[in-house]
Amino acid sequence: MNRKTLTAAILGLALLAAVPLMTSNSYYVHMVGTIMIYAILLYGLDIVVGYTGQVSLGHAGLFGVGSYTAGVLFMKLGAPLWVIIPASIAVTSAFGALLALPALRVTGPYLAMVTLAFGTIIQILINEMTFLTEGPLGITIPKPSIFGEKLTEHGFYWLTFGLMVLSLVVVDRILKSQLGRAFEALRGSPVASDCMGVSVYRYKVYAFVISAGFAGLAGCLYAYSEQYISPNTYNFELTVLFLLAVIMGGRKTRSGALLGAAIIVILPKLLDDLELFRIVATALATLITIGAVVGVIRKITTPKAMAIPVVGTIALAGFAFWLQSITDWRLSIFGLMILFVVYYLQNGIVGFVRALFHVRKPVSDDLDKAGADTGKDAISVAASAVEKGGDLLIAKGVLMQFGGLKAINQVDLRIQRGTIHGLIGPNGSGKSTMMNVLTGIYVPTAGSINFAGRSVVGRTSSDIALSGIARTFQNVQLFGEMTALQNVQVGLHHTFDSNIVDVALHTPRYKREETSAIQRGMGLLRFVGLADLATEEARNLPYGKQRLLEIARALALDPQLLLLDEPAAGLTAPDIKELITIIRKIRDHGITVILIEHHMDVVMGLCDTVSVLDFGQKIAEGKPADVQADEKVIEAYLGGTAA
Ligand code: ADP
Ligand code: MG
Repeated sequence: MNRKTLTAAILGLALLAAVPLMTSNSYYVHMVGTIMIYAILLYGLDIVVGYTGQVSLGHAGLFGVGSYTAGVLFMKLGAPLWVIIPASIAVTSAFGALLALPALRVTGPYLAMVTLAFGTIIQILINEMTFLTEGPLGITIPKPSIFGEKLTEHGFYWLTFGLMVLSLVVVDRILKSQLGRAFEALRGSPVASDCMGVSVYRYKVYAFVISAGFAGLAGCLYAYSEQYISPNTYNFELTVLFLLAVIMGGRKTRSGALLGAAIIVILPKLLDDLELFRIVATALATLITIGAVVGVIRKITTPKAMAIPVVGTIALAGFAFWLQSITDWRLSIFGLMILFVVYYLQNGIVGFVRALFHVRKPVSDDLDKAGADTGKDAISVAASAVEKGGDLLIAKGVLMQFGGLKAINQVDLRIQRGTIHGLIGPNGSGKSTMMNVLTGIYVPTAGSINFAGRSVVGRTSSDIALSGIARTFQNVQLFGEMTALQNVQVGLHHTFDSNIVDVALHTPRYKREETSAIQRGMGLLRFVGLADLATEEARNLPYGKQRLLEIARALALDPQLLLLDEPAAGLTAPDIKELITIIRKIRDHGITVILIEHHMDVVMGLCDTVSVLDFGQKIAEGKPADVQADEKVIEAYLGGTAA
């Protein structure tokens, strides 16, 4: 975070803390308190929605679990605040793990449906388990006591404020750590995450559990804040509101979560009051018009693109003054506003404002420090890999069948340590499938694969990756919204021992590991010639650079074996030259390479041994020159191009 944003954030928070001093109206104090409680939940929801890219419609249910944990513990046991808060977080986290189960199997609309069902079941359970929850009657809880003193409305406000700031700091630290990068990587490319040793399975569960923890805290505070809870609160409408708040405020920002919370608390109240609605509609129209003018002048948008929003908001303001009563129109106006934001401001309000003022994503402060350090060797290899000779990988009789198609048919492969082993063949001959089998993406139908003395078959991709096989992909699989450096840092995930407590407290262990990850990440980027582009989002890099970035990320895994799937595809001639130098250097560091490539000059110039596949079968193997002269190979290639 740079100094300007930090100052703005502190000023904003100070203002928020002073709210009870500025108004004597407890209605407003309670309202702002509710916004802060929702914000806590939204910080957590954003982890799941914004970072891992999963949809959750179960968060109102989790919110309810938090509230009812507090309510039941108070009613049945008279438990004090310092017991109730951790208990609510713990119980709700456990429910979060339950909610994660469907997310491991289904995604997208299906996941939305299942999480929605989860929320509904929670609501039904609260209703039915009357022996515990009093059912529809609800539970009454007084404001909590601290040191024997019952908190006043203001006292409780400041407690909420304190916990909101604490949540803000913790969530921010989590998301900027290796954990946050793992969450974000899931969204970017699940396959690549697994192949970088970041288990998609594990981090999806983590994301839901951590997210649920925040929902639990929010739910618990909500129970105290309202002093009465009943099952009806935790309904479908609330869960949709939560999701909308994240989208409207702007995913992947904490200020967006706060703003989203404010919108969903204030907007329904606003639409109850015609006078207020008129003022706000006018203000909105003015703001949008000014925004549009600034946007057009700065050439961020075109007049055409801004026409509908400007006309729309002005029409809304006009409509507000024409209206006699608002009650009948409430839901329609609400719906229209949501539609407007989701359609026009896809990065939410905060994202839009950032684009308007060219605010770049904050870059880690440690970067400059790390950039200065050039002494370190970027590539480090497990000691065992350096010893030359011997077979690193032995595959025997590998068969991979898709329905009736034998994509790989009884292939044997021996890869010698410290060599570059070419794998060539016409399109569709099974080369990429072989890589997918070696990295655990597919489990072979038959055959054995032995890597460094251990079987690979049946192990998960992330497990195989951590045991020393790294890869790149034929269709580039970068984490698009993450910077080049962050992409490489995901590869360095295995160098972290810090847990969530280290991350939240910024312990020396975490700081040491993070600094080292930045230094090594920069070193690897320098190795492939991308150091200047470290802070650029991967999706904005030119294609050739993206391929190089994939190599740097793969090297971050400290692999013994590196699989490159057509690394030169789509590269320009000078880029290919650079690539050849890089692959040679990788081999010279003692890393064994399997290279799939169509550019024959690359294969011939680099490889020690070449295996040729055709229709899933190995038809030749040997020194590059011998293979090139082999009749069967020539025929396969000519046949391939003629067909
Ligand atoms: P190459 O990389 O040599 O061009 P591939 O390994 O990608 O070839 O594909 C080999 C064959 O296997 C092709 O016929 C392809 O259609 C088929 N194949 C690959 N993956 C799958 C899959 N997941 N399901 C069905 N068929 C597949
Ligand atoms: Mg392929």
